[in-house]
Order: sequence, then structure tokens, then C-alpha cells
Amino acid sequence: MHQTTYHRAQSVEEAANLAQGASDPRYLSGGMTLLPTMKQRLVAPSDLIDLRHVDAMQGVSEEGDMIVIGGATCHNDIATSEILQSKVPGLAYQASHIGDPMVRHMGTIGGSIANNDPAACYPSAMIAMNAVIRTNKREVSAEDFFTGLFDTVLEEGEIVTGVAFQAPEKSGYGKFPNPASRYAMAGVFVAKTADGVRVAVTGAGDDGVFRATGLEDALAGDFSAASLDGKSVDSSNLMGDIHASPEYRAALIVAMAKRAVVLANGGDPDTKAATPAGTAAA
Ligand SMILES: Cc1cc2nc3c(=O)[nH]c(=O)nc-3n(C[C@H](O)[C@H](O)[C@H](O)COP(=O)(O)OP(=O)(O)OC[C@H]3O[C@@H](n4cnc5c(N)ncnc54)[C@H](O)[C@@H]3O)c2cc1C
Repeated sequence: MHQTTYHRAQSVEEAANLAQGASDPRYLSGGMTLLPTMKQRLVAPSDLIDLRHVDAMQGVSEEGDMIVIGGATCHNDIATSEILQSKVPGLAYQASHIGDPMVRHMGTIGGSIANNDPAACYPSAMIAMNAVIRTNKREVSAEDFFTGLFDTVLEEGEIVTGVAFQAPEKSGYGKFPNPASRYAMAGVFVAKTADGVRVAVTGAGDDGVFRATGLEDALAGDFSAASLDGKSVDSSNLMGDIHASPEYRAALIVAMAKRAVVLANGGDPDTKAATPAGTAAA
């Protein structure tokens, strides 16, 4: 049997020091990805350093005109945050549609971002909102942070302590979930600011999250779902698997972008009226 030592860190500094002194450490947040990976013997850490009890990494707050979310904040706290529900409803909606209740109460934004699963929801919000990812060593823009499938710029022992962004004027998310896992088969986050519209896509790109600039151009002039009628997305760099072909994912991206815009404009993206033909509401 493999021996693992569990540590409950009380501060970011303590966590980083524990990691530095261990032979093969892993940070533990919700454990929603890490623990199944350990059960499958894909990783066997010498030390598990639990970040969930670090107060400085908890909760949603405002710093001047920035909204800050601690890295150890669980999805349910993001979904139910009054700050986010009123100022960034797209992000609250996104968090409320992650996985199931257990995943939402255990999984964290820091763990999700560090893991950068190609079908994870938050990377799309971070890129669309031009967020900054805060670590114990630096601040990195989301566009530089996510570097490919399950890959980020995080270095050995670096901790995602939180994320920070300005609330967009409008925000929305549309997601077509895999019916078994609930991860996104295509998830589209739309953010409208004074500088324009940014659209980021998760679950579909064969190199992870990406911006859909064609959809951004269409929405810049007319921020309505109708402005996406007839628009398409190039399928050549999209994933194909047993669940959906690249071409099907391309169609889903446009459909989910429409739902995201409906939500951003104050509508209900899960109603039939907001659901384009062939993409039943999730
Ligand atoms: C059944 C199921 C359904 C899911 N559905 C969705 C979904 O619909 N959408 C979605 O987006 N996600 C989904 N997830 C993923 C889930 O929401 C978690 O975000 C994800 O599993 C990782 O978060 P965690 O906090 O549990 O991290 P952990 O599993 O604890 O850690 C994951 C990895 O990140 C590292 N790590 C953790 N925290 C940090 C940190 N702060 N800094 C640096 N490294 C860190 C760990 O060492 C580990 O390598 C699902 C998961 C499950 C099991």
C-alpha cells in the first residue's frame, strides 16, 4: 500500500513550504479530480497538502472595481454569491451548472483552473472576462495562463490563490453538457464590456479553451442572439470523439453562444424559445 501524508495548511506560505519539503507533493482542493486519479494509481503523492482551510483563499469579495474569488472557493459559493449573482450573473449561472451537488460543494475554482481540463467551464469565463489568475508568485492574464490540454503556466509548487476581474456590463454562459459526466461538450461564455465583446469556448477545442473571434465580431455590432443566425465556426481545430464530431461541436458552439447572449440580456437560456432547433435544453 502506498503511504501518503496528509497536511492541513492554514496559510498559503505554510502550504508552499510544505510542498517544498516533500518529495512528490500534490495540493488538495476539492479532490474531485485528484482523488479519482489517485484511486486509479495514476498519481501516488508522497504528501497531500489541503488548501481548503486557508482563509485567505476563501470567498468572493470586491477590491475597488475588481471582483476577487479565492482559489479555495467552491462552485456552490460562486453560484450563490450575491455579488456574482447581481454583477456577473453569467459566472454564477456557470458555477450552478457544474457537475452535481457534491461536485459543486467540494470542487473549487483554483483546482479547476490549475487542472485545466479541456471540458472544464471556468477557463471560458476567465478568458472571456480577461481575468487575472493570482498565484503565490505572480499574476498572469488568463490568456497566457491556459497553455493546452491539462496544461498551464503553473510551475512546480505554485498555488492558484485566486482570480480577479472587472465585472462586465453583461455576461452569460451556454453549456451543452455531456449527459453522463455533466462536463461541457461545448460551453460558451460571452462577456460584453465598454471595450467590446469577448467570446470564449470550452469543451470543444482540440487544444483547450479558445476565443471565437468570428462570433465576437458578429456580437460587437448587435448584441443579440439573432445576430448569430447563419454564423458558423470552423471545425478543423475542434475535438471529435464518441460523443460528438468536430462538425457537431461547431454547431453546438453557435447554439450555446446564442443561449449565453439570451442569459446576458436578462432572458432564460433554458426556455424553449432560447433553445435553437436540435439542441434540447440541458
Ligand atoms: C462527476 C464530476 C462532474 C464534473 N463536472 C464538471 C463540469 O460540469 N464543469 C466543470 O468545470 N468541472 C466539472 N468537474 C470538475 C470539478 O468541478 C472540479 O473543478 C475539478 O475536479 C478540480 O477541482 P478540485 O477543487 O476538486 O481540485 P482537486 O481535484 O483537489 O485538484 C485538481 C488538481 O489541481 C491541483 N490543485 C488543486 N488546487 C490547486 C491550487 N489552488 N493551486 C494549484 N494547484 C491546485 C491538484 O494538485 C490537482 O493536481 C466535474 C468533476 C466530477 C467528478
